[in-house]
Amino acid sequence: MKRVYANWKLNLPLPEAVEYAKALFNATQEEARYTEIVVFVSHSQIFPVSAVLQNTFLQVGAQDCSQFDKGAYTGEVSARMCSAAGAAFVLLGHSERRRFFGEKEDLLRLKMERALEAGLQPVLCVGETLEERKAGLVETIIQNQLSILPQNSIGARSWIVAYEPVWAIGTGMNASEEQIEAVHHFIKDRIAQVSGNTPIVLYGGSVSPENRTAILALDSVDGVLVGGASLQLETFLPIVQEAARLGKH
Ligand code: PEP
Repeated sequence: MKRVYANWKLNLPLPEAVEYAKALFNATQEEARYTEIVVFVSHSQIFPVSAVLQNTFLQVGAQDCSQFDKGAYTGEVSARMCSAAGAAFVLLGHSERRRFFGEKEDLLRLKMERALEAGLQPVLCVGETLEERKAGLVETIIQNQLSILPQNSIGARSWIVAYEPVWAIGTGMNASEEQIEAVHHFIKDRIAQVSGNTPIVLYGGSVSPENRTAILALDSVDGVLVGGASLQLETFLPIVQEAARLGKH
């Protein structure tokens, strides 16, 4: 089954987010049987959007969680709070968190631990910048980013990896099929070598109705993480429909 995950980032105000979640559910009742749809929403929207999607096939994720479980950490939202509010997933290490909030492996390792303890399924985002790609550092960078995955949970398939080249996010410039296949195989091979298990790997970076068929058709792509195109039904639905079409066969 191919997955379609939506990253709404800091975009939809609450009334719009709730209306959109309802519309998405109505439009994908058939498709949701053949693809896994998850919407990653702001912390304040986890509870109301989960309420709308309760008893449906659509699931909710958080866009981040704290490295702390509880205590005097003003402004933080813990993984357990996300879970209690209705989230089943959490994005970790999105390139925007790395870039604007300086998140690095030491911090992400702790967030990963808290997320797994809370029963959330983490989606670890990895990917290189254009400079790193030009310098031939793609594999080195990704291997380092993957190093936070806990060895003892590898067999459980309790987390997912999303390959999101930084230069492809929000730029309209998706990675080529060859580039995606090369990195996905690298990630799968590296993890299989250590654990004997092949992980789920999603692609993210300017996925759109125009390129969704070619990207979703790739064997090494287990699904897509969609930012900009996930904000409107008009552009998100064709991506969901294509994933569902592949899931039927
Ligand atoms: C993202 O932010 O995870 C993403 C993939 O964004 P976009 O689809 O807009 O490139």
